[in-house]
Amino acid sequence: MTTPKHTPGPWAGREYDENWHIIVREGKEEIVVAIANNSGIEDRETMLANARLIAAAPDLLDILEEIVIIQCQEHCDYRFTEDQAYHCARSGCDFIDYKKFIASVKGE
Ligand SMILES: [Zn+2]
Repeated sequence: MTTPKHTPGPWAGREYDENWHIIVREGKEEIVVAIANNSGIEDRETMLANARLIAAAPDLLDILEEIVIIQCQEHCDYRFTEDQAYHCARSGCDFIDYKKFIASVKGE
């Protein structure tokens, strides 16, 4: 895993002006990282579901990375590089699409 460029989790949702702010608490401060708004969404449950999904994004990314690491440890030539990033040296790794997805999400 590499150091994330996004605001580290956990992220949480908080209702604000009929929208949901996705926030990160840092001490006494709250940072708004995203807003799930009700523009074009008629039912509140859909907006809340969107907010929950956005708030879960850092955790989902961490879980996907862990799954890929575990799978590569079991099935590939896996090792840490000097910068402590995981590295699968197996050509034709079955998890390359997941690793590409993770890299794109992380802006790498
Ligand atoms: Zn692999």
